Amino acid sequence: MDENSSDQNGSDHNSSQKYDYDLFVIGTGPGGEGAAMQCAKDGLSVAVAEKYSRIGGGCTHWGTIPSKALRYAITSTMAALKNPTFREMGINVRPTLEQLRRGTQTIIGQQVTMRQSFYDRNNVPIFKGQARFVSENAVSIDGDEPITAKKFVIATGSRPYRPAGVDFSHPRIFDSDTILGMNEKPASMCIYGAGVIGVEYASMFRNLGIKVNLINTRSKLLEFLDDEIIDAISYHLRDQGVVIRHNESMEKIVPEDDGVVLHLKSGKRVKTDAFLWANGRSGNTDDLGLEHVGIVPNSRGQIEVDEHFQSAVHHIYAVGDVIGVPSLASAAYTQGRAAGMHILGKVDGNLRLYDIPTGIYTSPEISSVGKTERELTAACVPYEVGQAQFKSLARAQITGQTTGMLKLLFHRDTLQVLGVHCFGANASEIVHIGQSVMSPEGANNCITYFTETTFNYPTMAEAYRVAALNGLNRLF
Ligand SMILES: Cc1cc2nc3c(=O)[nH]c(=O)nc-3n(C[C@H](O)[C@H](O)[C@H](O)COP(=O)(O)OP(=O)(O)OC[C@H]3O[C@@H](n4cnc5c(N)ncnc54)[C@H](O)[C@@H]3O)c2cc1C
Repeated sequence: MDENSSDQNGSDHNSSQKYDYDLFVIGTGPGGEGAAMQCAKDGLSVAVAEKYSRIGGGCTHWGTIPSKALRYAITSTMAALKNPTFREMGINVRPTLEQLRRGTQTIIGQQVTMRQSFYDRNNVPIFKGQARFVSENAVSIDGDEPITAKKFVIATGSRPYRPAGVDFSHPRIFDSDTILGMNEKPASMCIYGAGVIGVEYASMFRNLGIKVNLINTRSKLLEFLDDEIIDAISYHLRDQGVVIRHNESMEKIVPEDDGVVLHLKSGKRVKTDAFLWANGRSGNTDDLGLEHVGIVPNSRGQIEVDEHFQSAVHHIYAVGDVIGVPSLASAAYTQGRAAGMHILGKVDGNLRLYDIPTGIYTSPEISSVGKTERELTAACVPYEVGQAQFKSLARAQITGQTTGMLKLLFHRDTLQVLGVHCFGANASEIVHIGQSVMSPEGANNCITYFTETTFNYPTMAEAYRVAALNGLNRLF
C-alpha cells in the first residue's frame, strides 16, 4: 500500500471515502469481541465476521472454556469418588469421558447466548462466513459482495501447528483442538509438548486415572515461571504419577492398531493408547487475502504489530493469538480493547498490557504476575522474598487444600512488590490481590499494605499477610 495514505493511527486513511462501516472485525473470540465492543460503545459503526457456526472463538468452543469446564468436571467428580464415605457406601463408579463432558455444552451455550447479547445490544451485525480481504478497505464473506470499512481488526486466533508426517486423522492421534472430542478414555496417553496446554492436559488426564507420559522438548517445564514454582509443579506431577521426559525431540509417530508409538531422536520409544500433540501453534492467516493488502505473516503465520496493535498497514490492526505470545484469552481481550482505544484516538488508560498474569490450571493450580527471582537476580535488583505455605493457613486446613505456597518478591529498599508467584488451590484468583497492590506506580505499591490490612479469617487471602511478614522479617 501507499505508506502516505495513512497516518500513525490510520485515522486519515482515505477519509474522504464513504465506507459501509467504521470498523470491521474478523473473528469473534475475546480479541475480536474486545475491539468490537470498545468501538461500538463509543459510537463507531462496527461489524464482525465469524466463520464458525457460533460466536465466541476458539476460546469458547475448543480452547479455554471447554478445557476448564472438563477440568472442573474431572476434579470435582474424582474428588467425590475418592471420598471414603462414598467408598464405604459401595459407590465405586467410573464416569465416561462423555459423561464428564456433558456439562461443557451447557456452559458453552450460556457463553454464546451472553456474548450474542453483547453484539445485539450494541447493534453490531455478525456476518457468518470466511472473511477475506479483497482490497485494502474491503473484505468479502465467502466470496460475496465486498463490505467496506475504514479500519479493520484481525482477531482470527490460532490453531495447533501440525508437523508433516503425522497422521492426525488417525483415531488415536489428537491435537489440542481435537482432544476434547476423544470418545473413549484411554488407559495411557503420551503428550508431546510441555507448554501450558500440554502440562494442563497432563495434569487433567492423570487426575482421571490415565497413565500419562509428558514429553518436553526443553530442559525444564514452563521455563518462563519462577524456578521454585517450576520445581513444585514438576514434583507434584511426578508425585501424581506423570512420567516426564525432558530434552527430547520427536523422530516419528507411528500409529498401530493397539496404540501409538512415539520414536524419539534419543532412541527411546513410548507406546500409549492415545497420543496428544501439544507442540506449537500457528496464526490463522492463510486464506485471509492478506496478499491483497500487503501484510506478510511470519513463518508461524503470525502478524507482526507495533505497540498499538497496528500491522505494517496502519489501518489494519491485529490482536490475540494471531500476533503470537502470550496467546491467552485474557490478553487477547485486553489487546482488543487497546486496539479499539487507539482506533478511537484514545489513550489506552494504562491497560497494563505488558504485565499480563499467567494462570495455569494444573493440579495444583499455578499463577504469577511480575518478575521472577531469576529475572531480578539477572537485573541485579536487591529483592527479598516472603513466603506463606498454604499448610499453615486455617482456611486451607479446613478445606483440606494444604498443598501450595504464595511467594512475594519485593525491593528491599523501596518495599515495592515486584513479583507474585503462587501455586495451590485457587492460585489464579489469589494472585490478583497481589497484582492490584503491585499495579500503582511509586510509593502506593508497597508490601506493607499486606501487614497493615485486616484480612477476613479464615481466608486464603491471609497468605499475603503471612508472606509479607515473613519477607519483612528478613530485612536488616
Ligand atoms: C486447550 C486450550 C486451553 C486454553 N486455556 C486457556 C486459559 O485457561 N486461559 C487463557 O487465558 N487462555 C487459554 N487458552 C488460549 C485462548 O483460548 C486463546 O488465547 C484465545 O482464544 C485467543 O483469542 P482470539 O480472539 O485471539 O482467538 P479465538 O478465540 O481463537 O477466536 C478466533 C475466531 O476467529 C474466527 N476466524 C478465523 N479466521 C476467520 C476468517 N477468515 N473469517 C471469519 N472468522 C474467522 C475463528 O472461527 C474463531 O472463532 C487456551 C487454549 C487452548 C487451545
